[in-house]
Amino acid sequence: MIEFGDHRFLWEIYDDQNPVLVLRKGSQIGASTMEVLKTFHAARFWGINQIYTLPTVDDVAEFVKSKVNRILKVNPCIRQGVSSKDVDSVEQKQIGKAFLFFKGTYTEKEAIMLTSDRNIHDELDKSKPEVIRDYMSRIGFSKIRSQHYFSTPTIPDVGVDKLFAQSDQKYWRFNCPHCRYRQHMEWDKNLDRERKIYVCQKCRKEITSRQVCDLGEWEAKFPSESISGYWINQMMCPWRTAADLIKEESLAEDTQYFYNFVLGLPYLSADLRIPASLFLKNLTEINAASEGDNVMGADTGNENHVVIGNKKGIFWMGKLKDRPNRTRWQQMAELIQFYDIRTCVVDAMPWTEEALLLAKKFPYRVFVNFYKEDPKMLEVVRWNDDKEGEEKEFEEEVKVLTSRNRIIDDTISSLRRGEIKFDIEKDYPAFRLLIDHAQTMYSRTVTDKLGQEKREWESTTGEDHLWHALIYWHIALKKRNKYEPNR
Ligand SMILES: [Zn+2]
Repeated sequence: MIEFGDHRFLWEIYDDQNPVLVLRKGSQIGASTMEVLKTFHAARFWGINQIYTLPTVDDVAEFVKSKVNRILKVNPCIRQGVSSKDVDSVEQKQIGKAFLFFKGTYTEKEAIMLTSDRNIHDELDKSKPEVIRDYMSRIGFSKIRSQHYFSTPTIPDVGVDKLFAQSDQKYWRFNCPHCRYRQHMEWDKNLDRERKIYVCQKCRKEITSRQVCDLGEWEAKFPSESISGYWINQMMCPWRTAADLIKEESLAEDTQYFYNFVLGLPYLSADLRIPASLFLKNLTEINAASEGDNVMGADTGNENHVVIGNKKGIFWMGKLKDRPNRTRWQQMAELIQFYDIRTCVVDAMPWTEEALLLAKKFPYRVFVNFYKEDPKMLEVVRWNDDKEGEEKEFEEEVKVLTSRNRIIDDTISSLRRGEIKFDIEKDYPAFRLLIDHAQTMYSRTVTDKLGQEKREWESTTGEDHLWHALIYWHIALKKRNKYEPNR
């Protein structure tokens, strides 16, 4: 039986009036119940409109029926003021003059018609980010403009973990009852696996989760940050012992699950990432530059990232910035001439016009790549100038359509098979940067509009330009091999 005082760590959060609230949390810690109560309180006493989102409409139906409506049924004082026609409704509750809407994040236009003073996003990491952004625009006219985000985290720097990092980062801190050392619970540092107990990080004497709960208080790491953030995990739940958690860890289907749902921590497994070894093992001493027949790939942005090489190896990479006398596009043109680039593939976004201008300058040597996810597409890469006898505009002919996820998979396989070599110094800064950029990539499984699961590549930080330049280079090399296979 869980008792009132067992949730001591939630009390301060119940009272927290900060407009932006972030909870990075494990499961089963009472956060949803708290948020429902806060929501009804705000509706009744402040009369504000609120939107409460969960990932899908099915999640909404389940949540409202099993949690919200049950709270209303057993608590007459909370039910008071809720419009009687709405007591059983799944989609909305009218409380006095205030409206509370429950919405999913996968149906488009969910957000369009509503206005809101506060948005509450439950299970943020499973929700659709674009729709969350749409909901944000719904509170643009409100004076209150409050947002509550809470979720079990998934991977580092994404979703709720990213927001927590921007917050004041409150940890549940306590003094050891034996030696007074101040600390917060950390799985590796506070666990004695052999004795199946928690211990103090300093004196190693036993501490129970009951003591952690009773002795702790919230303490911010960055008190001057305006977003209020909390990290809640099951190590501070008095009804969960160290032995319980060790057992759960051994039963968990993977480490990711245990970190996310029990510890409330993000986790990125190494096998979902691109290892640095894939690049290091492909370093070569061969003088690739002397081979000729060079191809180039370029990712474009405020800086253009460029990779140059041939089938013997990549021998030049770097980033081009605008200079007072030459733009980064002019520098690319110079590189194309200097290295006698036969085929170049340039990212079409966001600088489509500039990319097409470069293509005009070097007709049928520079191609412009668009990523397209088309399940019916048979090839990974489709060249628009392939079909003979068909007259097209020049802009159409220099277009390349590539399946983003498949070309990334394909490039990783080529690296694995040793088909992409690097004739570059191991410590050359751009080469290290390429590895860093590749390591921001991770693969994840997402559900598409039709409810089908598919795997896709994402970047944790978006700092992935040189990696994409390598992908474009690989597309260019494929073109070269296709037309001059014997060279
Ligand atoms: Zn101690």
